[in-house]
Amino acid sequence: MSAKLGVGTEDQAIEAVIALAKRAAQRGWTPATSGNFSARVDGARAAVTLSGRDKGALEPRDVLVTPIEGKRDPRVSAEAPLHYAIYRLFDDAGAIAHVHSRSATLASLKLAKGDAVKIEGLELLKALSGVTTHETTVNVPVFANDQDTDRLAVRVSQRLAAMTKAWGFLLAGHGLYVWGKTGDDAFRHLEALDFLFNLLLDLKDPGP
Ligand SMILES: [Zn+2]
Repeated sequence: MSAKLGVGTEDQAIEAVIALAKRAAQRGWTPATSGNFSARVDGARAAVTLSGRDKGALEPRDVLVTPIEGKRDPRVSAEAPLHYAIYRLFDDAGAIAHVHSRSATLASLKLAKGDAVKIEGLELLKALSGVTTHETTVNVPVFANDQDTDRLAVRVSQRLAAMTKAWGFLLAGHGLYVWGKTGDDAFRHLEALDFLFNLLLDLKDPGP
């Protein structure tokens, strides 16, 4: 048996995916059927959303349990290789959310300096697992978008493997990936980064 953390049974993982996707959809972060979500079953498998489904109205048949190694099942999201890469990299990743939210897309284009968005000195950073003080700096990596998700997954893996701690990353002009030990953790990270990105965007460009 793998020691890797899992959500539980296949059915529990599928329910966790649906719950996470619905919460994100309710916040308007998955426009036009975009976004994808997953939950780990065990060390070798994860439940992943299928392509093109309305994330606010998912049913168990819209989620498929697939291996995290090997070739992607063509029915699951084209971005599944990124989910698999995260599960292979981080033993404690139990659930992953990917959204095309307005704040994340804007942040990837307007806030990136070099290849990261730097967030520091803000209280809500403490919503990220393991962060206990605002007196810290969190760098959210930004990657160039790529329709070849296998190639993109390799680039993401190489960079994340060199980081001591990571909660998520941005794809430029595309959206945000976050993960957590549970679906609730992943959603909290989504909410925190959405708040922080919006705050930094407002600070940068306060408007009229
Ligand atoms: Zn996407």
